[in-house]
Amino acid sequence: MRYYDNVVELIGNTPLVRLRNVAAGLPAMVLAKMEYLNPGGSVKDRIAVRMVDAAEKSGVLRPGGTIVEPTSGNTGVGLALVAQLRGYRCVFVCPDKVSEDKRNVLKAYGAEVVVCPTAVAPEDSRSYYNVSDRLANEIPGAWKPDQYSNPNNPLSHYETTGPEIWEQTEGRITHFVAGVGTGGTISGTGRYLKEVSGGRVRIIGADPEGSVYSGGSGRPYLVEGVGEDFWPINYDRDICDDIIEVSDKESFLLTRRLAREEGLLVGGSCGMAAVAATRVAEQAGPEDVVVVLLPDGGRGYLSKIFDDGWMARYGFLSAGGAESTVRELL
Ligand code: PMP
Repeated sequence: MRYYDNVVELIGNTPLVRLRNVAAGLPAMVLAKMEYLNPGGSVKDRIAVRMVDAAEKSGVLRPGGTIVEPTSGNTGVGLALVAQLRGYRCVFVCPDKVSEDKRNVLKAYGAEVVVCPTAVAPEDSRSYYNVSDRLANEIPGAWKPDQYSNPNNPLSHYETTGPEIWEQTEGRITHFVAGVGTGGTISGTGRYLKEVSGGRVRIIGADPEGSVYSGGSGRPYLVEGVGEDFWPINYDRDICDDIIEVSDKESFLLTRRLAREEGLLVGGSCGMAAVAATRVAEQAGPEDVVVVLLPDGGRGYLSKIFDDGWMARYGFLSAGGAESTVRELL
């Protein structure tokens, strides 16, 4: 019989798929690393299992313990998967702006979700940050992974994502492109690829307009999971050779094309990274191989990026485009 003992064993070893249409005509080939094929649906499964393994080893997480983390999405799902298998309780803290659908996904995996008001200052005792700290201190046996500073976040990518890409491309990768949130993906994968190639592979971060990584002040943008208004410990400032700034509009339009033209229903940060990858491929040569990491799937964004009305409200799609003409004909 051929089977896995549990879903945690399915984490990692995601395939590369060539972007045939959105990168058509560019000098270099663009290959996408399909992280939504992880069992929890995102790249964050990799860091969840590595952070829990390390916490068990060091003794900060003991049998029957509770994982407390401020997260509203992918990291929560990854942690919940691992916690379920190993008998830990999960308490996730999220701001009230997070959609009910996203909270329900976490609950569906058996996690408890504590909702905090968004409209309070970070110092306020009701803020997302303070509530998660308080719960981590007050719940007996609680452990807070803290993906922004936990070294096992970039390490998981140094040990898995980087070597997988190197082997899959038989060492032919010339450019690696990824969005930057906590910085774990780009710092860990980038460090491995630089080391193994003797510094030959170029590492390019993709960042939403307004985020600090591309020189912004932290002003708001709509693409989720990437960009920051502070510099996390897990972002290694020595790794990126270049940072490409991408607007919300460009990110979302390419996200929609990935679904329609490549059969890849992925999230907005994937569109953002793919925009940066096509810009890199435009400037590259025919021997170059650009790998772009696509962090998650698109089902969590159906009422936003994939909704024509939502896109039109923000001015990302003209109200009278080809799509509405088709609707009128129907
Ligand atoms: N895209 C999405 C959807 C994410 O949730 C994250 C994680 N915050 C990222 C990209 C960025 O990954 P990292 O935190 O490793 O920089």
